[in-house]
Amino acid sequence: MPKYVYDFTEGNKDLKDLLGGKGANLAEMTNLGLPVPPGFTITSEACRRFLEEEALPEGLEEEIAEHLDALESRMGRRLGQADDPLLVSVRSGAKFSMPGMMDTVLNIGLNDESVHGLAKQSGGNERFAWDSYRRLIQMFGKTVQGIDGELFDGALEKLKGGRDDLELDAADFQRLVTTYKGIVRDQTGEDFPADPYRQMSMATKAVFESWNAPRAVIYRRQERIPTDLGTAVNICSMVFGNWGMDSGTGVAFTRDPGTGHQGVYGDYLQNAQGEDVVAGIRNTISLQDLEGIDKPVYDELMKIMDKLENHYRDLCDIEFTVERGKLWMLQTRVGKRTPGAAFRIAVQLVDQGMIDIDEAMTRVTGAQLAQLMFPRFAKDAESKVITKGMNASPGAAVGKAVFSTERAVELAARGESVILVSRETTPDDLAGMIAAQGVLTSRGGKTSHAAVVARGMGKTCVCGAEELEVSVTERRFTAPGGIVVSEGDVISIDGTNGAVYLGEVPVVASPVMEYFEGSGELGDEDELVQAVHRIMAHADASRRLEVRANADNAEDSARARRFGAQGVGLCRTEHMFLGDRRRLVEDLVLAASSEERERALAALKPLQESDFTEIFQEMEGLPVTIRLIDPPLHEFLPDYTELSVKVALAGDQAGEKDRKLLAAVKRLHEQNPMLGLRGVRLGLVIPGLFAMQVRAIAEAAKAVPGAQAEVMIPLVGAVQELEHVRDEAQKILAEVGVEALIGTMIEVPRAALTAGQIAEAAQFFSFGTNDLTQMTWGFSRDDVEAAFFSKYLELGVFGVSPFETLDRDGVGRLVLLAVEEGRRTRPDLKLGICGEHGGDPDSIHFCHQAGLDYVSCSPFRIPVARLEAGRAALIGAGSDTR
Ligand code: ADP
Ligand code: MG
Ligand code: MG
Repeated sequence: MPKYVYDFTEGNKDLKDLLGGKGANLAEMTNLGLPVPPGFTITSEACRRFLEEEALPEGLEEEIAEHLDALESRMGRRLGQADDPLLVSVRSGAKFSMPGMMDTVLNIGLNDESVHGLAKQSGGNERFAWDSYRRLIQMFGKTVQGIDGELFDGALEKLKGGRDDLELDAADFQRLVTTYKGIVRDQTGEDFPADPYRQMSMATKAVFESWNAPRAVIYRRQERIPTDLGTAVNICSMVFGNWGMDSGTGVAFTRDPGTGHQGVYGDYLQNAQGEDVVAGIRNTISLQDLEGIDKPVYDELMKIMDKLENHYRDLCDIEFTVERGKLWMLQTRVGKRTPGAAFRIAVQLVDQGMIDIDEAMTRVTGAQLAQLMFPRFAKDAESKVITKGMNASPGAAVGKAVFSTERAVELAARGESVILVSRETTPDDLAGMIAAQGVLTSRGGKTSHAAVVARGMGKTCVCGAEELEVSVTERRFTAPGGIVVSEGDVISIDGTNGAVYLGEVPVVASPVMEYFEGSGELGDEDELVQAVHRIMAHADASRRLEVRANADNAEDSARARRFGAQGVGLCRTEHMFLGDRRRLVEDLVLAASSEERERALAALKPLQESDFTEIFQEMEGLPVTIRLIDPPLHEFLPDYTELSVKVALAGDQAGEKDRKLLAAVKRLHEQNPMLGLRGVRLGLVIPGLFAMQVRAIAEAAKAVPGAQAEVMIPLVGAVQELEHVRDEAQKILAEVGVEALIGTMIEVPRAALTAGQIAEAAQFFSFGTNDLTQMTWGFSRDDVEAAFFSKYLELGVFGVSPFETLDRDGVGRLVLLAVEEGRRTRPDLKLGICGEHGGDPDSIHFCHQAGLDYVSCSPFRIPVARLEAGRAALIGAGSDTR
C-alpha cells in the first residue's frame, strides 16, 4: 500500500508530483526552519485513486487519523475540542498552480460548542470567535456543499447595511451564524455538520472532487495541463489574522513580476483572514506600510523573503498571516511573471550570481519570446470590444476595414492602414494579407489558411469570429448588437486575446522586434533587449540544430538573415506563379502541342531565374533549398463556377481562350486535390516542367558567386519517382556546370516507410510534416479543423492539434524511422524539417532529439527556433516546453 499522507516535515519542494505545489513548498519552508503552522499533506495519488474508485482508497482514513493524532498531540488540543479547539484549514494544491480553480476551507473544527472554547482561549475575544465560525459555514457551504455563495454574501451585506466589516461586533457575527445555518438547512435539507471530523473528511473529499469541476477542466485544457494528475490536500493548523488590529494577512512578491526589479511588492490587510486581501472587502495597504505597523514582523518578513529567493534562486510569491505580532508563512511558490520580466529576471539572477546562464536559458521560453516580438495595445486604453474570435496570430493591429484583396492593396498603396476582413482567406488573398496590418475572419480555426499564413508572416490575425456576419459583396460586417462596420470604418484587433474593437486603440511597438529587425545589433540600453540579447547569444552557442527559413522571395530572405537564419530550408516556387504570372501557367495548361508547351515554359523560365537570383544574392552563399512546383495546376486556373458563368453570359461572344480554359478546368478537376496530380507526379506527367525549373535554378546559381542551391522534389512516395527526376536534374546541372544537392521531401507515409531505398537517390531529406500529418492521420487539413477539431480537443483525443505540435506518437515515429533508415543507407544524409512544426517549441525539441540537422520555419519564428533549439540542447530528452 502506498504512503498517502506526508507530514510537512517529511516532504520537500521536489515532490510536486505527489504533494502538489503548495504541499511540497510548505514542506520545503518547514524544513528551512521558517514559521509554518504544522500540518500534513494527503497525496495526489490518493486523489487519483479516489476519483477512479469513487471511494477513499483503502487505508487512507487510518493514515489520516494517525497524522491528525500526531498533530493534535503536538498542538496539545484536539480537533474541535469544546474548551480549546484545534482548528485546521483544508487546502487544495495540484502540481501546477491553478489559480482560483480549487478551493480552501478555513476554520474547520468550529461548532456551537467549540466556538465558545475559542472565545475563551482567545481571552474573551467573542467577535473573533464568531467571525471565524461564520466564515467556516460560509466557505464550507459554498465549496463543500455547493450552495450559491451569493446567498451568504447577500446575508452579510444586509447585516452590514453599508457598514464596514470592522464595525460589526460579536453579536452581529453571532446573528450571522444563525442566518447562515438557516441557509444551509434550506439548501441541503440538513443541519450544518457539527462533528469536526466529519467536517474535515467532507472537505477533503470535496477538494478531491473539485479536480473535475467544469472550470478546472476548462482551465487545464487551455493551459495544456494533463487531466489525470489529481490534486493533493493540505491539512494545516489554523493561525488567525482576524484576531484583531494587531493581526492581519497579506501577499507579497520578492520582485516585481512586471519588471523583475527587486523591492518590496505586496498588499496587507489588518484584522482579516484568507482571501480578504484579494477579494477587496476593504482597501488593502501596501506591504511597505506594514513596517510602520509592526516593525519586528516586517523585518522578519524581509529576511524570510530574502532567504526564500536565495533558496529558490528565483522570484517567489508568498502568502502570510500575522497573528498578534507573530508571523506565519502560509504559502510560497516560484511566481508567475510577464514574458518581459521572465527575460529580465533570468539575466538579473545571473548577474547576482544566483544562477548560471545555462539555467537562465531554461527559465525563458520561445512562447514568451514570441509574445515580446509583437506590438501590443496600450494597457490603459479604453475601447469597445464588439466580439471575440480565436487568437490566431498575436499582435495588435489597427486599420480601416476592407473586404477584398484589391481594396487592401489599393488603400495600402496610398499609405493607409487596413484590416482585411473576410469569411475565410484563400491563397489569392496573399497580397491583401501582406498589404494589411491584420486579418480578421469569421470562419476557420487556428490552422486555417488565414491563421497559418498570418503567423508565418508575423501578422496579427483573429480568426473564426463566428458572431460576425461578413458580407463581402456589400463590403461590411455586422457584429452582435446590430453594430455595422462598413468599408473604411476603423477597427482594432488583438491577436493575443482574440478581441475585436470598434475604433482605434493606441498601439505600442515592440523594442524586441526592433532589435531583431536590426540584425541583433544592440542599440539603446533597454534592459529587456539586453536580456534577450544575452540569452539569444547563449542559445546560439549552445544549440546543435541549425535554423533555416521558409522564404519564397528576396524580402523574406533578407528578413530571415537579419533574424539569424543559416539558410533557406524551403523556397516554394508556386508562389512565383501567382498574380500576373497566372496567364503564363494558363498557357502551359492549354498548350496543344509540344511547341506551344515549350514556348509557355520558356516564358516562365526567366521569371523564375530572376526570383532565384535575388534569393541567392540575399543569402550570400548560405544553402537555399528550392522545392519544385508542388500544388495541382488547376490551383492556378480561374474558379470553375465563375468561369462557367462568364462563358455562359458571353454566349457566342465568349472568347476562344475562355472556352478552352473552361474545358481545361473541367478536365483537371479532382475530388481530392491534395491526393491528386501534384508534386513529383506533376513533374513526371508534364514534360519539361521540372526541367525548366531546374535549369532556372542552375543558371541563377551559376550567376551568383558562391550560391549553394539544393533541389528538392515534393511528394515522393517511391524511389523510382525520385530517380527519374534526379537523372534529368543531374544532366541539366552538368550541362550548366553547377553543383547542387538533390533531395526529397518526406511527406507521404510511404516515403518514410521506404526511406532506406529513397536515400539511395536523395542527398537530403526534408520532413514536410504538414502533409505527413495530414496523410498519417487521414485528415484533410482544410476541412477537419472547422468540422470537428474542437470536439476532438474536448474529448481529449489530442491535447493540441497535430498540425500545431508534431504528434510524437504517430507522425514522430515515421520521422524517427526515416531518420534511422535513411542514415543507414547514406550516413551523410542531410536532415531537416520544413513544415509549420519547424517553428513550434515542442516540435523543435523533438527534432533535436531525433537528430535532425536543421529546422526551417517562417522568418518571424526564427528567433523562437534559435532559442528553443538552444534550450533543447540543454534540457535534453523529456523536456517540458510549457
Ligand atoms: P489558494 O490556493 O487559493 O491560494 P490557499 O490554500 O492558499 O488557497 O488558502 C487561501 C488563503 O487562506 C491563504 O492565503 C491564507 O491566507 C488562508 N489560509 C489557508 N490556510 C490557513 C491557515 N492554516 N491559517 C490561516 N490562514 C490560512
Ligand atoms: Mg494560496
Ligand atoms: Mg507538402
